[in-house]
Amino acid sequence: MTQPPHAPLLFATRAGTLYIGEQPVTALAERLGTPFYAYDSRLIELRIKELRDVLPSQVQIHYAVKANPFPPLLSYMAGRVDGCDVASAGELEKALEAGFSPETISFAGPGKRDAELMAALQANITINVESAGELERLARLGEMLGIRPRVALRINPDFELKGSGMRMGGGAKPFGIDAEQAPAIIREINALDIDFQGLHIFTGSQSLSMEAIIQAQSGALNLARMLLEGAGLPLRKINIGGGLGIPYFPGENRLNIKPMGDQLHHLLETHRGWLGDAHLVLELGRFLVGEAGVYVTRIVDRKVSRGETFLITDGGMHHHLALSGNLGQVIRKNYPVYLAHRVGKPAEEIVNIHGPLCTPLDVLGHKVALPRAEIGDLIAVTQSGAYGLTASPVHFLGHPLPSEVLIDGGHE
Ligand SMILES: *Cc1c(COP(=O)(O)O)cnc(C)c1O
Repeated sequence: MTQPPHAPLLFATRAGTLYIGEQPVTALAERLGTPFYAYDSRLIELRIKELRDVLPSQVQIHYAVKANPFPPLLSYMAGRVDGCDVASAGELEKALEAGFSPETISFAGPGKRDAELMAALQANITINVESAGELERLARLGEMLGIRPRVALRINPDFELKGSGMRMGGGAKPFGIDAEQAPAIIREINALDIDFQGLHIFTGSQSLSMEAIIQAQSGALNLARMLLEGAGLPLRKINIGGGLGIPYFPGENRLNIKPMGDQLHHLLETHRGWLGDAHLVLELGRFLVGEAGVYVTRIVDRKVSRGETFLITDGGMHHHLALSGNLGQVIRKNYPVYLAHRVGKPAEEIVNIHGPLCTPLDVLGHKVALPRAEIGDLIAVTQSGAYGLTASPVHFLGHPLPSEVLIDGGHE
């Protein structure tokens, strides 16, 4: 019970009941059945506004579709951010259906097949090229189809975002072209019949250190300058990555993004000479949608085993792998979990919360302090709007899929 607390809840509660927008989760559960995911558009809107308030207008916000490709949510994003980043032809199709216009879509990913490159060429989106070989393949396919490829080079920087939850830049990586190899490729670009857009420099993900984020952004711009200044290429955008994290675990705090905005204003001044009015792009997934989502599951059984109480729920790792600690965590920690009709009430017992799967990995909460919970009660897990359903092994053990719902403007 002496654990540090989770970051404060962003959803409203009334008489102890958790609300998603204007909807009590208990009513949502009646209607949708359990388990389900609900996403509150107002929290997404608030997040975007917070960013717009501090960012220079030259900095665009892109949504990383892989964080949550739920179609209504994607359509919602299409009207509010400046573009999106997809990582497969499947995501590209979803992004186009959601209403993103092709010139605002970019496609990164280390293993783009010919069919995917052709789909991207035909849609006329920007393709973030990940290797010299891919660039060659793309140029060839473009020639074949008679379409001039719109290309950005993804660079694997020689540094990484410190304190990052997932390492995606720096060192030997499957992603991007090593910064050291980039100059030779950039020299050849003029000779290729491609529409060069700029660079994509992704340094890492899920960082809660503003200092590290600022350092990585500054490093990305310096690297871009080194590669592009005097290269004689037209310059439209530099994607400087994202990496902004959200607090998942006890003791973690929300980022204050004001210093990042200040720094970007400053960086744009410093780099004005070579950058001109090319756009900077921040590509964000979890920071935009992660805190807007809740996963709700019902307690099916309550039992005691050798002195410990277990609540067994109808949802678990097959819907929410990250919650169970099996999506890239080294040491499992608890997400914030709430007894959905008694939020904020004093804890009465320590429980283990376990899903319905026949594996000890299906953990929703280990030694969590909760008010007394009974069979039929609802458990709500916040911080579940990103890498939830989309990143889970839904076929494992053959349980049904959960419902998903976007609560837009407080209502469905
Ligand atoms: C996954 C990914 C993102 C989004 O990461 P978040 O941590 O969700 O913000 C952004 N850019 C690239 C290249 C990615 O692979």
